[in-house]
Amino acid sequence: MAMRGRRFLQIPGPTNLPERIRAALARPLVDHRGPTFRRLLGGILPRLQRLLGTRAPVALYAASGTGGWQAALVNTLAPGDRVLVPETGHFALAWAALARDLGLEPQILPGDWRSPADPAAIARALAADRGARIRAICLLHHETSTGVLSPVAEVRRVLDQLGHPALLLVDAISSLAIDAYAHDAWGVDVTIGAVQKGLMLPPGLAFLAIGPRARAARSRHARLPRGYFDWERTLEAHAAGLFPASPPTSLIFALDEALRMLEEEGLAQVLARHARLAAATRAAVAAWGLETQGRDPAHLSAALTAVRLPAGLDAEALRQHLREHHGVVLGQGLGRLAGRVVRIGHLGALGTAELFGVLAAVEAGLRACGHAAARGGIAAAIAALDDSPPPPAEGGVAVDPKVPSGGGRPAGCG
Ligand SMILES: *Cc1c(COP(=O)(O)O)cnc(C)c1O
Repeated sequence: MAMRGRRFLQIPGPTNLPERIRAALARPLVDHRGPTFRRLLGGILPRLQRLLGTRAPVALYAASGTGGWQAALVNTLAPGDRVLVPETGHFALAWAALARDLGLEPQILPGDWRSPADPAAIARALAADRGARIRAICLLHHETSTGVLSPVAEVRRVLDQLGHPALLLVDAISSLAIDAYAHDAWGVDVTIGAVQKGLMLPPGLAFLAIGPRARAARSRHARLPRGYFDWERTLEAHAAGLFPASPPTSLIFALDEALRMLEEEGLAQVLARHARLAAATRAAVAAWGLETQGRDPAHLSAALTAVRLPAGLDAEALRQHLREHHGVVLGQGLGRLAGRVVRIGHLGALGTAELFGVLAAVEAGLRACGHAAARGGIAAAIAALDDSPPPPAEGGVAVDPKVPSGGGRPAGCG
């Protein structure tokens, strides 16, 4: 079928690229050893620290998120080290597989792919680890295959209570600039981020916040080959406004612009907007008589909603229908959820009207694919927005000092 109008790429990252990002990507390149680039990188690093909630140094890599996982492992660990991986879903198992491939010994804590990592189960595994063979916990803040958020600070509390020396390595790739995150306050040793989720960029840049214990492990303990991912080489180059090798200059331009967009809207406002879009989506899902993959509403991420489809409704058939008839592309079910789950991404540069369009298409598609009960989702979504707190006024800083910022609802219709 011929498609007209905008296509909606509602996979949970990469997302629709905002106009401003595309313009930044189109800028002519500059000398990546010259003053313009140095100034650019020097401006970006402290803003990434703010986004991560840390004073720890940040290293950027030309890599997808997987490269960030690898960097965290090879800089902190030695061959044969055990890493504890709570099985929150597909991405947790993928990180464990990478660890095994690097010569580490992943110990997987089984999970049902509907729940957060369980601090009590982590505590039991650590308590049973007499010789402290577990050198790191690989935890996903947001497991993107299920839409479930795990309690990072509680895992740190478990480590502290047991006095266990394992490092806490956290993947925040699909939660940064979407759900609240705090590297320092939560006691994380390494946080891994990437730019193609909440940061609204094409894939290709990963970054790490490197806490002091992790940095010390690099010199005192780590013995895996580090190669390109040696973070000391990267940090040393960054200190001079450089990358150790050619940087993805266009992505650096775009990252600068993305951070500016987030700062103009205000990070608190960005998180509130995501929370509202998520609440509206979940109201629609409930109206359709369907369930989210995550069981506990208190642990759902604001990045996406993973929807469990009724038996007999093939997720891939629904996705194909939506793509062909409405130009809406949802995320597929990953791993053992293939064919059974669709993931509606509502992250990045997205507004309510766009979300209504997506939800209306999904509702129509569900009915066309045989789920006749899919009705009333848009009304439910609108009602949920009525009930959820409006985002605070945009921007943290008033441009005109006579006009106070954070003034709440715009005048007019409330
Ligand atoms: C997207 C994502 C990754 C990404 O990895 P890529 O190598 O960029 O494909 C890793 N972890 C999580 C939680 C993700 O959402």
